[in-house]
Amino acid sequence: MTDAHPTAPTRGEVPRDTLIRWLNEYLNVPGIQDLSLNGLQIEGTDVIRRVAASVDSSAKTIQHAADAGADLLLVHHGLFWGKALPITGPHRTRVRTALMADLNLYAAHLPLDAHPEVGNSAMIAQALSLQGAQPFAEWMGTRGGWYGELPFEQSLQDFADRVQKLTGEICLVHGGGIPTVRRLGIVTGSGAEYIAEAAALGLDTLLTGEPEHKHFHDAFEYGVNVVYAGHYETEVFGVRALAAKLEEEFGLPWQFLHHPTGL
Ligand SMILES: [Zn+2]
Repeated sequence: MTDAHPTAPTRGEVPRDTLIRWLNEYLNVPGIQDLSLNGLQIEGTDVIRRVAASVDSSAKTIQHAADAGADLLLVHHGLFWGKALPITGPHRTRVRTALMADLNLYAAHLPLDAHPEVGNSAMIAQALSLQGAQPFAEWMGTRGGWYGELPFEQSLQDFADRVQKLTGEICLVHGGGIPTVRRLGIVTGSGAEYIAEAAALGLDTLLTGEPEHKHFHDAFEYGVNVVYAGHYETEVFGVRALAAKLEEEFGLPWQFLHHPTGL
């Protein structure tokens, strides 16, 4: 008779390959096209006992993860984006820092934006009690945002204050639409491209990370309020929720490495 769970890992100590397989499946990494090379980007130690999570994979965050004794660093913005890069300059420093520390680096970009349970937009939607959330904002075949209705209408300023409480940072507000917020779309990071889609869906407000200059006029000409809460600040939610999920599933302790960019 065989054990029903022959490879079930001990809590608090998981073979790397088991954990990576679980992550790839949970996040649907093979099923989501992206510019980011999602999944394990740098292979480190064979067994994972401690996890770190950060938004970016700068040399500083990688060094911080190594200093914190992490075996796995989960990031939203990894090191490899759709084209071959020589291992030189800052890119070399980042790769070398991880390799020297025997640190596994795992990136989840679009799979984490779009995830219904631990995704960046889904976590903000949950924090704001968004009702009847539906996916929108398609990029490379995957919809990475959610839209729906807030349980109550509030003024644009009150809404921006609420978002500020959530992220800890002051929002940039472009009041292109009606002065109240009820029908809301959320696209974390660089989501201002979806102002037109927000207007087409009849949303009064889009909550996103950061604009390009041209998006100022889009907000007013499409008649949509846009609340910019920061690319970094809107994308801390997914990696934190994912690391917490690993703790729940595998008993792995984790910490968030906060390296804000102010953008
Ligand atoms: Zn991003």
